[in-house]
Amino acid sequence: MAEQAYLDWNATAPLRPQARAAMLAASDIVGNPSSVHAEGRAARRLIEEARAQVASLVGVDARDVVFTSGGTEANMLALTPSIETAGEKAPRDRLLVSAVEHPSVRSGGRFAANSIEEIPVNGHGQVDLAQLEHRLSGTAAGGSRPLVSIMLANNETGTIQPIAAAAAIVHAAGGLLHVDAVQGPGRINCDFKALGADLMTLSAHKLGGPKGVGALIKRSDLHIDPQIKGGGQERGHRAGTENVSGIAGFGAAAEATRVGLPAEQARIATLRDLLEAGIRRVSSRIVIFGSKADRLPNTTLFTVPGMKAETAVIAFDLEGIAVSSGAACSSGKVAPSHVLAAMGIAPELARGAVRVSFGYSTTESEVSAFLRAWAKLAGALYKGNEIAA
Ligand code: PLP
Repeated sequence: MAEQAYLDWNATAPLRPQARAAMLAASDIVGNPSSVHAEGRAARRLIEEARAQVASLVGVDARDVVFTSGGTEANMLALTPSIETAGEKAPRDRLLVSAVEHPSVRSGGRFAANSIEEIPVNGHGQVDLAQLEHRLSGTAAGGSRPLVSIMLANNETGTIQPIAAAAAIVHAAGGLLHVDAVQGPGRINCDFKALGADLMTLSAHKLGGPKGVGALIKRSDLHIDPQIKGGGQERGHRAGTENVSGIAGFGAAAEATRVGLPAEQARIATLRDLLEAGIRRVSSRIVIFGSKADRLPNTTLFTVPGMKAETAVIAFDLEGIAVSSGAACSSGKVAPSHVLAAMGIAPELARGAVRVSFGYSTTESEVSAFLRAWAKLAGALYKGNEIAA
């Protein structure tokens, strides 16, 4: 039987053993974390331990971590006009988002549609900082209070954004910067302060924690109007009895991710280079999207002119290899990729984009299995359909 290889880590990562153990242990804690008795305090302890672990992954104080039901909810929570700073209570009146954001950011959260603007990217997928500066010029003087949202790294291409430079521009214009860092942990450093972020989104399942848990990291002096109102949990930022075992799993996965980063980063980069050299050997006309930019060490989005991603993903699956199409595919229906469109990639080429992504337990033998499958399938996937690149 063909070797199975899970190479779709940007969609979701396998559960880390530390996260599984923490979740199992937490499942036996009966108390509500808001209760004052011993059982309640035991549940509260697990949450606060996890909060410290997540905080230390991104270099913030534990009290600046707000747990949510995932990256999508954290993005929704962050993208609101109602963010108060110590000195300023007036609402944010503009939202600027890069053209390659995740749909949960592109939706604009709680901003009115007519107050959302898109910042273009270049052909490598990097946000156009000159455009950002141009759009923001004069806002501080004009009394405007923008919120800007730029992702740390793109889920399709792996392109890393120049966040620290963007933060300097946004702050000079009196704005706040939200960074969707869901794809960062375990691949690159995600230090909140070094990046210059005011708000940052994390998702547990992308770093080996459970699905359905995430966090919004916030600058200490910010208060965000809660999206889910009720019992005042999470210091008033997110009501509802906490998902204790999910949060415990998130904490354990965050801790393992932080400790493992230096070794994992170099190892997955070596595997990615091996993969890219191998696919090139079989197909000289290969196109690797974003390859000229700073990219996550675990992501390759590629095509060969003439290939169709839907067919390729199914063919790989029949060979035991799990990869995904670069195009957004949330309900099994493949839509054209807004990321590749924003990069100016022709639709015929974009529809062939296949994403391979690695993580902490990816092995060289899985890469070899992928390359054997590619050598077997490649000819049939694009031969006879070749189009000009
Ligand atoms: N942001 C990015 C960049 C993502 O890749 C994803 C998930 O695919 C999300 C946000 C949403 O995270 P979640 O699946 O936890 O809602």
